[in-house]
Amino acid sequence: MKALGEFEVWFVTGSQDLYGEETLRQVAENSGKIAAALDSGESIPVRVVWKPVVKNSEAILATLIEAGATDKCVGVIAWMHTFSPARMWIAGLQALQKPLLHLHTQYNRDLPWAEIDMDFMNLNQAAHGDREFAHIEARLGLRRKTVAGHWQEKAVQERIGTWCRAACGLHESRHLKLARFGDNMRNVAVTEGDKVSAQVQFGVTVNGFGVSDLSDAVRAVADAKVDELVRAYEATYEVAPSLRAGGADREALREAARIEAALREFMTVGGFSAITDTFENLDGLKQLPGIAAQRLMADGYGFGAEGDWKTAVMVRLVKVMAKGLPGGTSFMEDYTYHLDPAGPKVLGAHMLEVCPSISDGKVSCEIHPLSIGGRSDPVRLVFDAGSGPAVVTALMDMGDRFRIVANEIDLVPPDEPMGKLPVGRAVWKPRPNFATATESWLTAGGSHHTVLTRAVGVGVIADFAEMAGCEFLLIDSDTTVASFKKELRWNEAYYHLARGLR
Ligand code: MN
Repeated sequence: MKALGEFEVWFVTGSQDLYGEETLRQVAENSGKIAAALDSGESIPVRVVWKPVVKNSEAILATLIEAGATDKCVGVIAWMHTFSPARMWIAGLQALQKPLLHLHTQYNRDLPWAEIDMDFMNLNQAAHGDREFAHIEARLGLRRKTVAGHWQEKAVQERIGTWCRAACGLHESRHLKLARFGDNMRNVAVTEGDKVSAQVQFGVTVNGFGVSDLSDAVRAVADAKVDELVRAYEATYEVAPSLRAGGADREALREAARIEAALREFMTVGGFSAITDTFENLDGLKQLPGIAAQRLMADGYGFGAEGDWKTAVMVRLVKVMAKGLPGGTSFMEDYTYHLDPAGPKVLGAHMLEVCPSISDGKVSCEIHPLSIGGRSDPVRLVFDAGSGPAVVTALMDMGDRFRIVANEIDLVPPDEPMGKLPVGRAVWKPRPNFATATESWLTAGGSHHTVLTRAVGVGVIADFAEMAGCEFLLIDSDTTVASFKKELRWNEAYYHLARGLR
């Protein structure tokens, strides 16, 4: 079963009429085998659907318009088995509304050195057919990914799979509805953003609701529903003694469950896949949602604290793109540092809202005071994140454009148990090192709120940014501050020019 098997990418093979029936029959047969192999490829999470070979501009236009109009089709893979004069592709490519991957491959892996003749040469023409096609892609300025190599190679299929995951992210982005309870935290800059621009660029719909809509729903939750959730907490987590039946804080646990039930109902009825809240605007809520936000994230919803809808969007998109992969994804905040020169580390956490999917170990359900927000003590899940490679990603509104910045990191165990820190938390070393990573991040204006994922690498984020036409900056093992600063300057010029006059 494919992790994102409800989605398709279409495999479109280009040719032309002049080859004659026998060659075109062979082109169709070979391309069908490649599509079938990709469809059954382990690293490709969507269905790969073979389309009849296109031989003229009418067929190309019709196929690519149909791809755009078919909701479950998230992208198109194009390959030129033979030579397909590229002016035939102009109208179709101009009409294409889905991400494009140009697969530069050849049916035969090896040249039959002793046997090769002109028939073989005329059938296996991707070496020049794909160059003709790529020329028109470049001439039209199309955003696309080009993947070169034999179609049976693991690395080739993995790169196609990465692009497929990003394409599912773009599909989700174009359908995503986000509900905000309360506005952004007052006076904060980086969590602000232009919701109209976000909808134009990413397709996301971001709308605000009164907190009273939610608190009224909390009051209306049936006791049986609360009982059911409390049983789920007890079955899943190590519940603190005061929260257990007969404990002093039992009612606080039931209130947390009431909030979770109301939020789930609100999101299901409204078709929302991401939410934000803020401790500054809790209206009739008795607690800041803690365990509710954590468990919603664990089920794949997006979440952003302090009204941070951009990070909530990214949490949801990464959750979708990571579907079926181990490791987990969470809302995160760079919180505090361990600045030992022998090995500086970042401690990431939040007041409450960290997703337990990034943990490999024990998750406990606890209640502790929260010094801000002025409400009752909130119930939350407490844990340490697992170890290993991960990525932190942030989405910022720079005023004239959106910017995505990502940093490859290595999660490490805490030096000592943090028994007095009652939140979900993660400790990591950023690549290439603390100073270069943080200096670059700050130079890019990267936010303190991020998405931390152990499930997908930066390639998926990079492909998504490319598809969405969003600026993308990567901080990894090869980054230097000097080159990063130059890239930022060049991008300022590029994005200014690319927007053009209006
Ligand atoms: Mn925060």
